Amino acid sequence: MTTMTEASMPRMTIETEVPASARTVKPLQDLEVAVKVRDVNLFYGDKQALFDVNLNIPRGHVVAFIGPSGCGKSTLLRCFNRMNDLVDICRVEGQIEIDGRNIYDRSVNVAQLRRRVGMVFQKPNPFPKSIYENVAFGPKVNGMKGNLDDAVEQALRGAALWDEVKDRLKASALGLSGGQQQRLCIARAIAVDPEVVLMDEPCSALDPIATARIEDLMQEIKTEYTIIIVTHNMQQAARVSDRTAFFTTEVNPESDTRTGLLVEYDTTEKIFSNPSDERTENYVTGRFG
Ligand code: ADP
Repeated sequence: MTTMTEASMPRMTIETEVPASARTVKPLQDLEVAVKVRDVNLFYGDKQALFDVNLNIPRGHVVAFIGPSGCGKSTLLRCFNRMNDLVDICRVEGQIEIDGRNIYDRSVNVAQLRRRVGMVFQKPNPFPKSIYENVAFGPKVNGMKGNLDDAVEQALRGAALWDEVKDRLKASALGLSGGQQQRLCIARAIAVDPEVVLMDEPCSALDPIATARIEDLMQEIKTEYTIIIVTHNMQQAARVSDRTAFFTTEVNPESDTRTGLLVEYDTTEKIFSNPSDERTENYVTGRFG
């Protein structure tokens, strides 16, 4: 039996298919910052889940978070709309600025923050109500002035779902296919005109065709909404994002605990074709993770 050395192992390469927009990504310092993460350390009880994370998310871009399971990608994503507030043992140190304001400041109204920072989850989660009511809910709760029908239509068009549902707006959202339900959730998120849309593995429950539609949609809406996506699928990160942040976990040998840290953050093209850090290279070429 021949034993493969690491050097002789076949290396998996990712077809980056980097979108044209990503190839012309401007240097970060020339871009307007939508979300600024400064010295963020996050703890669940005694366990540190994120160590000293710093990164700037530029406005109107898609930024992907990649890395092995448990490295804190979803945890960081959930910081951006303070979803982690719902976890009693979670403590966040450092600053996260959105539009120049620290969202962890005591004076911040969390309900308003969540209107500005929408979220789409792994599994489509429409309310058990009509298609119309799902989209109208946010504008109604936020006391939107203006024509609700128009707002619903605009959001459904924005989510590339209008043509498929315009004749059955009163039908239950639960009768839609999985892909349609996820686009409905995107419509629900954008109906309140957020600045940032967080997506936590939005395609992991979808088939390839529905996935492709969501990916196309992300490209269409990113000029209006900054999108941050957590994905386990590296091809997806390569296809949809302009910038990619690679996280990993580091083991503390004394306590035998793992802490997530940001290893490298750069244009998607650079991360997948010529990363600076060996850990990134090992991950994107499939040697690790
Ligand atoms: P990823 O999204 O990269 O898979 P997560 O952010 O889900 O990673 O998790 C990072 C670490 O934080 C993991 O060790 C996980 O077990 C831990 N963790 C996540 N959510 C909670 C929670 N609600 N309570 C305690 N620990 C948590």
